[in-house]
Amino acid sequence: MIASRPPLQVLIAAPRGFCAGVDRAIRIVELALERFGAPVYVRHEIVHNRFVVDRLKTMGAIFVDELDDVPDDRPVVFSAHGVPKSVPAAATERGLSFVDATCPLVSKVHRQAERLIEEGRHILFIGHAGHPEVIGTLGQVPAGSITLVETVEDAGRVPVPDPENLAFLTQTTLSVDDTAAIVDALRIRFPAIRAPRSEDICYATSNRQAAVKEIAGSVERMLVIGSPQSSNSLRLAEVAERLGVSARLIERASAIDWECMGTPRSVGVTAGASAPEQLVREVIDALAERFEVTETVADHTPERMTFKLPRELVA
Ligand code: SF4
Repeated sequence: MIASRPPLQVLIAAPRGFCAGVDRAIRIVELALERFGAPVYVRHEIVHNRFVVDRLKTMGAIFVDELDDVPDDRPVVFSAHGVPKSVPAAATERGLSFVDATCPLVSKVHRQAERLIEEGRHILFIGHAGHPEVIGTLGQVPAGSITLVETVEDAGRVPVPDPENLAFLTQTTLSVDDTAAIVDALRIRFPAIRAPRSEDICYATSNRQAAVKEIAGSVERMLVIGSPQSSNSLRLAEVAERLGVSARLIERASAIDWECMGTPRSVGVTAGASAPEQLVREVIDALAERFEVTETVADHTPERMTFKLPRELVA
């Protein structure tokens, strides 16, 4: 006799998964492979997702850490996170052909940083040290003209050259709530600090965090599909945990810890902006092998953001 499976409500967050910047970056590598033939080199993971990277590798992309690893006669794509100015400059000097897959919303922050420096302001940049996007943004302006602020404590003690001549910018994939607390601390300490004209945390990051908040009250566990390197995925797990839901960041179904999972009556599922929908399906199918699953997709307003592809690849 087959033992009956315990019932499980699976609540799927929406929106989740790929954002317009990730879609565009992946398409850029695909188009570069069509246009130039394999191999096409990609500096750093095009987006933080092993599944995406492995698929592009099978198509002929070669992922490298540094420009020095790219041969002179092959094109190179820069990742969606953006690069310091020194990288395209070095590529130009070597005569390499390159395509920049930096998300336009990251590029927008880069341009803001340049403008603020032209105005003579010192920038306090809210972000996580070592993340490629942060390295890229810090590398848009001269060393010493921008200071990284990671926490509320940093905001309270960061030394600044002139408190009357400051501005702040942020990484695009931060926690909306943590960033608001850091900005509040900066504003108390530096009332004259200039804020960005519009929010730097991108639409995809804030929408996915809001979607997790929406379902967190209705589930006992949350599975967040994404890479441990993916800033926006890590933030989704944090958001759920802060709302009292036991959350796990997993790369794909095979990473589910069934012992930890236990026998909940409800599980929320979401995915970071670099995780393909295929992995969401895989996780739900894995749940369905052990539970009698009832699936519900949360109500949401569809995202309609799209970004243009670089002209050199579509002309
Ligand atoms: S998460 Fe936001 S900033 Fe990052 S690629 Fe997607 S849209 Fe662009």
